[in-house]
Amino acid sequence: MSTSVSELKALLAEPKQVFITTHHKPDADALGSSLAWASYLKKKGHSVTVVTPSDYPAFLNWMQGNDEVVVYEPRHNDRQVRDLVNRAEVIFCLDFNCLGRINELGTYVGQAAGTKVLIDHHQRPENFADISFSNPKAAATAEQIFEIIRDLGDQELVDQGMGEALYAGIMTDTGSFRHPSTSRNVHLIIAELLNAHIDLASVHRRIYDSHSEIRLRFLGYILKDKLMVNREFNTAYIAVTQQELRDYDSKTGDTEGLVNYALSIEGIVFAAIFIDRGSAVKISFRSVGDFSAAEFSRNHFDGGGHHNASGGVSYVSLDATVERFLGLLPQYQAQLASTPAVPVAV
Ligand code: 5GP
Repeated sequence: MSTSVSELKALLAEPKQVFITTHHKPDADALGSSLAWASYLKKKGHSVTVVTPSDYPAFLNWMQGNDEVVVYEPRHNDRQVRDLVNRAEVIFCLDFNCLGRINELGTYVGQAAGTKVLIDHHQRPENFADISFSNPKAAATAEQIFEIIRDLGDQELVDQGMGEALYAGIMTDTGSFRHPSTSRNVHLIIAELLNAHIDLASVHRRIYDSHSEIRLRFLGYILKDKLMVNREFNTAYIAVTQQELRDYDSKTGDTEGLVNYALSIEGIVFAAIFIDRGSAVKISFRSVGDFSAAEFSRNHFDGGGHHNASGGVSYVSLDATVERFLGLLPQYQAQLASTPAVPVAV
């Protein structure tokens, strides 16, 4: 048993007040790992609350435990959430590596007296946790959660609902089992989840085939009119204005995955989407091969993430942000030109 697992085992030996949180705009891995972990801890007799720092896409609301999630809204439930943080004896921080990723909640968590436990797979974690399970090689936080439950000797407690939440996290963070992070270990874990009778087809359908009609028309518009391809730098990008978000009645989650279409063009090794959220321009970067999207967002857009999938933010206008982005590409020309867009067969 690793030092962290034995520390965790000791920490959870008696029933505790537990607070679980995850990153801003939780995705399937963030929410799935949080809810599966919450189900597990409840089975072990702990009092658990999951608090997300913002809302999340409706296509995730089927997960077991979703109805009990507290969505932090500073103007509505600040006091309730502050009390929950302050009362917690243990605070689990899942699928993020710096307190800035949980918005205003970061201040409360940073100051709280409870023991902080980080479970995360992003590069370069900030040093704010008392116990840390940081593994950038893990494909998903859900993979880590499964392993921790197994290492605590409780794999038989993984039920169908927990298994489907974990499967959703692993499936989406591996791009449906195609990113290089899809290890043998990942497939072995999925095999174990199948023992818990998870319904793979149903999870796929609920996540990928539950779009509203207008969301699909939005996708059509983006691909037809907004996708820019720059062959000189093997880069493709999309910039979305606030007006366009309004025109297509965009909801949380509606822009998720759009950047992958840009990366799917033959020969493209770097892709970005810029979304004008009003207070800031939110950016997603994706890359293939050696070109580090994480380094690019860390160096230029106050962000981070994974080697091939990262995000960042910009506080100048949408046009100025795109201009800045394009101005940065020449310094990466050698890397962008030499990265094979398709992995070379050996
Ligand atoms: P996405 O583009 O899907 O929002 O995020 C891709 C990856 O980058 C995710 O692992 C996400 O947690 C991370 N990420 C997204 N935005 C930011 C950011 O502003 N800062 C940091 N540090 N990571 C981010």
